[in-house]
Amino acid sequence: MSRVFVFAAGGGGKGRSWKWRDMLRFAHISQCADLAASIERDYDSLCVKQPIGRELFKLFCQSLTSHSLLIGVSLCCGFEPFLPTIPQSNQCVTVVSKHKDSCVEGLHSNRCLSGEPFTQYQYSMFFDRFLQWKMLERQPITKQAFRQYRLLGKGGFGEVWACQVRATGMMYACKKLEKTHVKKRRGEAMALNEKQILEGLDSRFVVNLAYAYETKHFLCMVLTMMSGGDLKFHIYNMGEAGLQEERVRFYAAEVCCGLMHLHRKSILYRDLKPENILLDDNGHIRISDLGLAVKLSEGGLVRGRVGTLGYMAPEVVSHERYGMSADWWGLGCLVYEMTAGHPAFRARGERPKAAEMERRIQTEQEEYGDKFSKAVKDLCSSLLNKDPKERLGCRGYGGKEIQCHSFFKKVNFRMLEAGLVEAPFKPDPRLVYCSDVQDIEEFSAVKGVSLDQSDDNFYSKFNTGSVPISWQKEIIETGCFKELNTFGPEGSRSPDLDW
Ligand code: ADP
Ligand code: MG
Ligand code: MG
Repeated sequence: MSRVFVFAAGGGGKGRSWKWRDMLRFAHISQCADLAASIERDYDSLCVKQPIGRELFKLFCQSLTSHSLLIGVSLCCGFEPFLPTIPQSNQCVTVVSKHKDSCVEGLHSNRCLSGEPFTQYQYSMFFDRFLQWKMLERQPITKQAFRQYRLLGKGGFGEVWACQVRATGMMYACKKLEKTHVKKRRGEAMALNEKQILEGLDSRFVVNLAYAYETKHFLCMVLTMMSGGDLKFHIYNMGEAGLQEERVRFYAAEVCCGLMHLHRKSILYRDLKPENILLDDNGHIRISDLGLAVKLSEGGLVRGRVGTLGYMAPEVVSHERYGMSADWWGLGCLVYEMTAGHPAFRARGERPKAAEMERRIQTEQEEYGDKFSKAVKDLCSSLLNKDPKERLGCRGYGGKEIQCHSFFKKVNFRMLEAGLVEAPFKPDPRLVYCSDVQDIEEFSAVKGVSLDQSDDNFYSKFNTGSVPISWQKEIIETGCFKELNTFGPEGSRSPDLDW
């Protein structure tokens, strides 16, 4: 905690390599022909969901004269492309004629642009440019793409290191799974499961996966960098055990949003506990470590005693089938521990045997000391209801019911979801919020385990490179998009860009 750490930036102020322009050099458009033929022409994916696609489509719309955009929009709305006859009541047209640039955003939602303008876009230089960015996105990823910095933590199969993308300067956390460890402990399905679940998510309350790649000895997942430490550290190592109610409320609200995002995608998390909730340098949290998460079939249930015993719901402990209820129990455990400064079913420093823990979880009523206000006590006891059918969050309205609880009265969830609420505590950027990393043992290969051809099938499923939405966000956020996405005069293809 006391050590001061400063990241070496290297390669200029933004931390990019001095060769960054070479690393992000566009292929000639003729080399994009295969991609052009195979890419799915889906408006929603190309122009709304993918951040670079969205930017380029916006630039395309802004490049049109008001008149031609109007014609495009009116055609798709079923009007004659003759301006004076377009009825003024047509909302899109009125908006277009008022503020051509800002309306493009709004038009995405009313679908006018998905017709004729989208068709025209695909013949424009903006779409060519999109293909060029996609070619870069699809470049194979090796460890050469990153600089590696300090060790951040250790997990079951390997270590997590701070790393930086050489081309853009973006900082990430790289979770490296040692291949022989994975093989010895039959962790292949678990590793692939974690990777595949992460790549389908896009929430500010869950760590994002940006890249998945392999080296000779490791499988690597490159994740959102969370440099503020985990909640376990903040609950126990930052003075008196426990957190102030403002912070409990804020973290609980963000975790609730994260769980709702997972549940909307039918993903049950199953491993909620303070050490899996990480802080970023602005003090916001994200759910991390999705190794135990599972995708449920529609409305389905699972069986299986997984998780960490102290945080398992009664229905999990007793081998019943369970669904999202297990995560809402976990939220109850988390809120309890943040408030009390010890877990719900264990005193501080106490190490009960497994059977005793199970008994307490299934039958014992947790105690609420004077650190609990009326509202937080009520929230915890409703979430820690032993009957999953009666538990808050499980009575037909999901997480919405939790968000409506009086404990969250002050929280504006819309603002929170939009990232517009400031965190009540901001980590000091000069501090390292974890136990001394020197205490973390070195990770080395397991002796007597050899890797062979049969492992390659699994590795190739894992080694998929950049995750499109994360990669495109990185390119935009680091300013690389703005600097590289130039066009020559009058839209001609800029000569210095190898067109
Ligand atoms: P495992 O699944 O093996 O338990 P984790 O995903 O929990 O591995 O990672 C191990 C440790 O690495 C965590 O406890 C945490 O200290 C650190 N860590 C994991 N992900 C990140 C991240 N995105 N940013 C910063 N540190 C991280
Ligand atoms: Mg973990
Ligand atoms: Mg894990």
